[in-house]
Amino acid sequence: MRTGIGYDVHRLAAGRKLVLGGTVIPSEKGLLGHSDADVLVHAVCDALLGAAGLGDIGLHFPDTDPKYKGISSLTFLTQINAMVREQGFTIRNIDTIIFAEAPKIGPYRKSMQENLAAAVNLDLGCVNIKATTTEGLGIIGKGEGIGAMCVVLVE
Ligand SMILES: [Zn+2]
Repeated sequence: MRTGIGYDVHRLAAGRKLVLGGTVIPSEKGLLGHSDADVLVHAVCDALLGAAGLGDIGLHFPDTDPKYKGISSLTFLTQINAMVREQGFTIRNIDTIIFAEAPKIGPYRKSMQENLAAAVNLDLGCVNIKATTTEGLGIIGKGEGIGAMCVVLVE
């Protein structure tokens, strides 16, 4: 058995769509990045790559490559799922935390869970999404960005 950890933060900016876990969430600001900047999916991608010893997301999907501009990060996750399985690993579970002052994640949790589970061929019960604020502290607390962490177990 092996574990992997993933961590990511993206800046919030006006005029961007907010995409978290593959779900578009109504918001005045969205995350800034080369792809759709889906911080939750990026954390999951890095955790899976880490568990399989395959480096990190920037290595496989560089943000200088025009073909990834505006792309759904779920396509990264789908490809990483295939890479991890090609190495002979079975994904057992994925646990995540979203760090955001706003918006409320609750109404979108199920949809995000379904997107992640579908991308990695897991049962819903093996994909967990938690959310917390940082009590108004720091860049996340001031609403300047959203962060995410992920831990996975593969076998
Ligand atoms: Zn990212």
